[in-house]
Amino acid sequence: MITVSNVDKRYGDFQALTDVSLDIPTGSLTALLGPSGSGKSTLLRVIAGLERPDAGSVVLEDKDVTHVPPQERGVGFVFQHYAAFKHMSVRDNVAFGLKIRKRPKAEIEEKVDELLGVVGLAGYQKRYPSQLSGGQRQRMALARALAVEPKVLLLDEPFGALDAKVRAELRAWLRRLHEEVHVTTVLVTHDQEEAMDVTDRIAVMSDGRIEQVGPPRELYDRPETPFVMSFLGEVS
Ligand code: ADP
Ligand code: MG
Repeated sequence: MITVSNVDKRYGDFQALTDVSLDIPTGSLTALLGPSGSGKSTLLRVIAGLERPDAGSVVLEDKDVTHVPPQERGVGFVFQHYAAFKHMSVRDNVAFGLKIRKRPKAEIEEKVDELLGVVGLAGYQKRYPSQLSGGQRQRMALARALAVEPKVLLLDEPFGALDAKVRAELRAWLRRLHEEVHVTTVLVTHDQEEAMDVTDRIAVMSDGRIEQVGPPRELYDRPETPFVMSFLGEVS
């Protein structure tokens, strides 16, 4: 369970998050959905420890991590613009986190083989990132994030830069991946269809606040708040 409680975040005079509280159940795939500038990435970065909140707390699996550095939180992160090591093969990119943790060689080889299979890149392991398509690169980024067995996987518009057809394929693929690995996942997106298609729960954000949280169908069938109604209407 990820528990965010009463988080405020300011950049100078600008209030990016206001009194944000959110529970994310263990093993769920939750979307943070909202228009550009609503504070989705900021909230994700607060959960990851890449931004320190001005008020409030973040608890990961019963441990208060508000003052714990990102590398000690057990989170994996994938951004819109992939950050591959260009000079390393696909295999070495996926193995990187395990190597810097000095895991035994045999364990690394086994884990990397498994992950390359899971993300459908077994046949591409000797290639370099520049020889992959955009969708393949994001799958590699996911394998790399999963390699160190994070407790939490944080995805910030991971498919945002790809064209619609590839995005739809990767959505279906992410859904299957989640069913297989069951890692607690938070997906930031401004794409309502993506949130509806892929996730178990949606937290709708607007102006640095969480407006509504619930299963996709519930939000769609009974959009009680005027904001959610206009947002769902606007995007669909
Ligand atoms: P979203 O991901 O929903 O598009 P962000 O969390 O990136 O929104 O940003 C929320 C607001 O905070 C935006 O108005 C953005 O301009 C502002 N913001 C984000 N990061 C910074 C920063 N490092 N410095 C100043 N303002 C920022
Ligand atoms: Mg963002």
